Amino acid sequence: MPELPEMENYKCLLQEKIQGKQITGVVIQREKSLNLPTEEFVQRVNRQKVLGIDRRAKYLIFHLDNGDHLLLHLMLGGWLFYGNTDEKPKRTVQVQLSFGNQHLYFIGLRLGYLHELSTPQLEVQLQHLGPEPLESNFSLDRFLHLLQTKRGALKTMLLDQEFIAGIGNRYSDEILWHARLLPEKKATELEQEQKVRLFQSIQTVLRQAIQWGGYMDEAFYQGDVQTGGAKNNMNVHDREGEACPRCGNPIVKVEISSRNTFYCHICQK
Ligand SMILES: [Zn+2]
Repeated sequence: MPELPEMENYKCLLQEKIQGKQITGVVIQREKSLNLPTEEFVQRVNRQKVLGIDRRAKYLIFHLDNGDHLLLHLMLGGWLFYGNTDEKPKRTVQVQLSFGNQHLYFIGLRLGYLHELSTPQLEVQLQHLGPEPLESNFSLDRFLHLLQTKRGALKTMLLDQEFIAGIGNRYSDEILWHARLLPEKKATELEQEQKVRLFQSIQTVLRQAIQWGGYMDEAFYQGDVQTGGAKNNMNVHDREGEACPRCGNPIVKVEISSRNTFYCHICQK
């Protein structure tokens, strides 16, 4: 599932491609991806200008000039492509937004969705989310304060969107490897120095992944060399049996909260 770095990468690319442009056509192949009947959705969205694109946690928010918003969550398997009809990937498209002869294709939306919401509706959808880990108001003090409320395993804690927003299965493994902490370790067992390290690793790992363009398999447009660079830079996630880049011991896989978890049992303590 795309996490904070992948959605941040999409946000930046979308700002380049469609910010300020008018939607000239809407094609819906899968009504279940919407929160409204197709006809009503099209009526509300077509001819609107996209004023801006923001990210919150793993969501993207498209601001329309009628004051409403499109809320996108890609969930498992969803991705985006932008281009003309010749460049369109040979895949089923659930939703298509057109900008003249260029189109934004929403692909692989099975659990993922695109909802048309008023500002109050949007606020309700996002109100449960915890702080953004890369925003300046996410300070060490705030993190330490939040940590005091947590009792469970670090892996489970990092996945909790009400604790910190935007981290999923992949980057939680990478963050804990970077911080040299075991995923099963309890938040209550952390020493002060380990807490500080975890705070720093959250930011370092996420920032680096954004710079690499996240891990999405598919390019966002033809000739896109930015998207997907993080995929070959994973240290532990999905690397069971491979050598730990830090100490050389084989990486192990376990299940924590029914999520596959990868770590090094030698250099993570
Ligand atoms: Zn190691």
